[in-house]
Amino acid sequence: MKTFNQPLGGNELARFGGPATMMRLPAAASPEGLDVAFIGIPMDHGTSNRSGTRLGPRQIRDESRMLRPYNMATGAAPFDHLQVADLRDVPINTFDLKKTVDIITDHYRKVLSHGVIPLTLGGDHTLTWPILRAIKDRYGPVALIHIDAHADINEHMFGETVAHGCPFRRAWEDGCLINARVFQIGLRGTGYAADDFDWARGQGWTVVQAEECWGKSLPRLMEIVRDRIGELPVYISYDIDSLDPAFAPGTGTVEPGGLTTWQALDIIRGCAGLNIVGGDLVEVSPPYDPTGNTALIGANILYEMLCVLPGVPQHPSRFSGLQF
Ligand code: MN
Ligand code: MN
Repeated sequence: MKTFNQPLGGNELARFGGPATMMRLPAAASPEGLDVAFIGIPMDHGTSNRSGTRLGPRQIRDESRMLRPYNMATGAAPFDHLQVADLRDVPINTFDLKKTVDIITDHYRKVLSHGVIPLTLGGDHTLTWPILRAIKDRYGPVALIHIDAHADINEHMFGETVAHGCPFRRAWEDGCLINARVFQIGLRGTGYAADDFDWARGQGWTVVQAEECWGKSLPRLMEIVRDRIGELPVYISYDIDSLDPAFAPGTGTVEPGGLTTWQALDIIRGCAGLNIVGGDLVEVSPPYDPTGNTALIGANILYEMLCVLPGVPQHPSRFSGLQF
């Protein structure tokens, strides 16, 4: 009988003790034998405003120490069904962004060759493009659920094609995406031009701006998203700045009027049943996160992604039955 890795419990060693790994899972040197790997990419040389996301993976791991194995809302018990470990960090080149994106693609090609689902701790959003290149090599073009305050579809930034505002433009150029199955949720704020989000719409992508989400719970939106994506392989990219800064101030490119934490949970829980092939949580910047709560929420969102992966059964929530 297979023994699955388990997070180290809070009654075995004090939660603040020991080396920091995602959810206090074992650290693994190789993806062999794993179903899912948490992987850090400690980079911020793609940021355009405040930096600091190089420290994101380390801080997310640290704050993940409070996470327990069972999801009390969905009944998911990921560690009863999947072999999960922390595959540590990608050895990026902190002086060279263009070399770094190639290092990331090579690294993920190897991980994916073992049939592993990568869940990535960022790092700035540049990293999603090189991951999607590796994903395309294994699965072909994929559907995308991208939650962000920003579209990240710039042609250039400061004349550069590789930056955290460009990953989905580059992924589109490389044919990584199924255009009719790309969903961008949470976009808002000020633009360079009035038609900033229209390029995406012109490609057939669905753009759900933050204002359209205000005051709503989002299970119905996700029902539509699931219906459109069907069985296709799908990648989830979650930029923490999609959340309102009241919830997640610890990030580099803050925009007011964002999503709530419960909307974030609606979105990720609404991905259950999809053929998810990978996901990331990006743009946590610890120098702007003095309470650690932004990293802690990021850790929870990564855990929720784990809970909706293929092979993890969902059980109905235990509602009270009261009509109110
Ligand atoms: Mn982004
Ligand atoms: Mn953003």
